[in-house]
Amino acid sequence: MGFEEYFGNKNTVELLRGMLARNRLPHTVLFSGPSGVGKYTLAQMLAKSQHCLEQENDFCGECRNCRLIGMADDRWAAVERAEQEREKLTKRPREIPLLIQHSPDVLLLPPNGPLRLFQIEQARHLKQALAFQPAAGRKKIFILPEIERMDAAAANSLLKSLEEPPPHSLLLLTTASEAALLPTIRSRCVSFWLSPLPERLVAAFLERKGVGRDAAERRLRAALGKGCPGRALRLDLEHYRQIRDSLLTILQAGLEGKNFAALFAETRKLANEKEGLENLLDVLYSLLQDILHIEAKANGESYRNADRPKLLWQVAHSLGVEGVKRVGALLNSMERNLRRNVPTQISLEAFAAGLAPLHRMSEE
Ligand SMILES: [Zn+2]
Repeated sequence: MGFEEYFGNKNTVELLRGMLARNRLPHTVLFSGPSGVGKYTLAQMLAKSQHCLEQENDFCGECRNCRLIGMADDRWAAVERAEQEREKLTKRPREIPLLIQHSPDVLLLPPNGPLRLFQIEQARHLKQALAFQPAAGRKKIFILPEIERMDAAAANSLLKSLEEPPPHSLLLLTTASEAALLPTIRSRCVSFWLSPLPERLVAAFLERKGVGRDAAERRLRAALGKGCPGRALRLDLEHYRQIRDSLLTILQAGLEGKNFAALFAETRKLANEKEGLENLLDVLYSLLQDILHIEAKANGESYRNADRPKLLWQVAHSLGVEGVKRVGALLNSMERNLRRNVPTQISLEAFAAGLAPLHRMSEE
């Protein structure tokens, strides 16, 4: 156990460890990077390193303190448990700040509620709690994930605390969108950027966690997770496959310029499930990548959607190289639709309608 177990972003981790060793870690640290890249995991590791009973500036993961802090390692599960507890207490849960504390000196203040927002009550609690000395460990640690989910009122009430946190405190903030933060918040933090990992590293992470039936599934998860181990880990593969199959049906029906009944049934199904257009685009891009792979007759790494070889080959064959380029252009216009909030079903049908001429082109 210890920082060595952290996957990826070695330089950032080494930088932080160097700061720890020289007792130069800033009081307000902001981890930024895409969702699932490991920001919260690193914050948890830092918290453990400050309270571990066995190691100095690293952690064993086994001692009492490491285990207590580790109870919130799975943030989603910890938040769900805390929300359930809160609902038992009151009919108006929003008025009680959600605070998760397994160890006396480490407090997690996550966004919560149906809209997953940070509450002003949490900011108020944080301000009060900052005044207290740590109970046992070296530092009193506050972990605030996804601070882009904090509204202006909560953010403003925290400004002073962020600027002059007491010397015994350590605030660990994370965000997937540094640009969405108030400049006054950004300027009060020292930020560390965590980049997405190479797919083979994400696959190795999944193997370590015992996730995925085989190497092919881990490769698919890694590819769909876009270099973010947490995303690859939490991915609902069954759901992905359902969407993927719907989109393959749309692709095929659109290309053949017939079987419109099946096509509309699938677009309606996807629209009714309220599947976000952004997510659908991701899946379409993953299909397009496979089709390119087939077109290029590439050897070596097998493709992502290896469980649908026949359909993929059919689509690739109908499209040809020119067709694939046109599909790329159609996806670009879908992205524009996404920014303009065009309804999913309309956007998908426009995409399918744009496919039919491509099929004829390949037959000429
Ligand atoms: Zn320990």
